[in-house]
Amino acid sequence: MKNNIPYKIYLNENEIPTKWYNVRSDMKNKPAPLLNPATLEPMGFEDLRPVFCDDLVKQELDDTTPYFDIPDEILDFYKMYRPSPLIRAYFLEKALDTPAKIYYKFEGNNTSGSHKLNSAIAQAYYAKKQGLKGVTTETGAGQWGTALSMACSYFDLDCKVYMVKCSYEQKPFRREVMRTYGASVTPSPSDTTNVGKAMLEKFPDTTGSLGCAISEAVEVAVSTEGYRYVLGSVLSQVLLHQSVIGLESKTALDKYGEKPDIIIGCAGGGSNLGGLVAPFMGEKLRGEADYQIIAVEPASCPSLTRGKYAYDFCDTGMVCPLAKMYTLGSGFIPSANHAGGLRYHGMSSVLSQLYDDGLMEARSVEQTSVFEAAQKFARVEGILPAPESSHAIKVAIDEALKCKETGEEKTILFGLTGTGYFDMYAYQAYNDGTMSDYIPTDEDLQKGFDGLPKVDK
Ligand SMILES: *Cc1c(COP(=O)(O)O)cnc(C)c1O
Repeated sequence: MKNNIPYKIYLNENEIPTKWYNVRSDMKNKPAPLLNPATLEPMGFEDLRPVFCDDLVKQELDDTTPYFDIPDEILDFYKMYRPSPLIRAYFLEKALDTPAKIYYKFEGNNTSGSHKLNSAIAQAYYAKKQGLKGVTTETGAGQWGTALSMACSYFDLDCKVYMVKCSYEQKPFRREVMRTYGASVTPSPSDTTNVGKAMLEKFPDTTGSLGCAISEAVEVAVSTEGYRYVLGSVLSQVLLHQSVIGLESKTALDKYGEKPDIIIGCAGGGSNLGGLVAPFMGEKLRGEADYQIIAVEPASCPSLTRGKYAYDFCDTGMVCPLAKMYTLGSGFIPSANHAGGLRYHGMSSVLSQLYDDGLMEARSVEQTSVFEAAQKFARVEGILPAPESSHAIKVAIDEALKCKETGEEKTILFGLTGTGYFDMYAYQAYNDGTMSDYIPTDEDLQKGFDGLPKVDK
């Protein structure tokens, strides 16, 4: 192959990073602190302990420590499916007839099918270390619940998953993967919590929402002895764990003297993108190198490109801390976009601050163009991509085609976060030509903004 660069760059097992990198340590403008929703005061260790595991609270609150050692128990688990390959997309480059060099970091080569396992195993480990009995969480489309159930099974922890009712019914296969790994899966809203009962009384026919499922999972965690709540994205601790993606990518590229000009990732709550770009952003923040970094979001849920930078609730039940982030408002209900993992109303406060400081850009793309890119990619590169990941593919293709016009030989790196085998209804809609592109109007968005809490910070 060209330049002696293999199609797949595999690192050795001993090249898996042994430390996570905390990009906040290099940020001049730190992300804003989480606030207590009742008092609007910044939340400290004691405030967060009832909800999250102690070690994870420490990671969440730490803006200064650059590196955290990855415990051996987690490294052992990482060895089951890491290092993940960095792939040179020779076939896609050829199909596009572009002078650009395209690389993608593939995180879908584990049973959960996505990058989420990188943080799930870390969160389960710290829960076990603290001597807890189990953890609770919510899952929308099911990727996070699947990853967490695998992680909990490995450490012999109980795992209670609240799954948005419509997904519970429409995605029985993900539900069954979770149950196979020993998790209990409850459709949300349910009659097992006060929040759920109140919701069912008010809206007996509701098909649920992610915000409600979060509120149920938090309620169970704080009211059951030996349980804590865990979250698969958005939080700074999750971005920290996901830095393994970027660290491995950088090691692999450095081996071949390659340096990306453009780094692209899809952005739901921001964890894979935050992890992929972490070491590169660190160099950028320290003035050692420059990279163009692009977050890609669905036009139906455009938190960075059309949202407001403000304090907001992380859930619709308004029980979670307030986070300052680019948000559409916790009351914003995105249309039934098929990329379930990108339907969150807000964005990681780390990425929000970096975006606000002009250190990265954002693009929004429409669903049918995303599936067109997914299909092209599947046909030439062989991997059937998750709809979420395909948002990054779409923009990588756009950038490679720009290079074709200008003749520039840019190097593009994007994150391929997962596989799409559980998303075949979405592919079916695309193949049948029944998929639609919904873009919220300014009036639609205003309704979400009207519900933002009034915070003077
Ligand atoms: C959950 C998910 C995402 C989006 O989450 P982030 O926290 O923004 O990374 C992207 N791709 C896949 C495959 C997912 O499962």
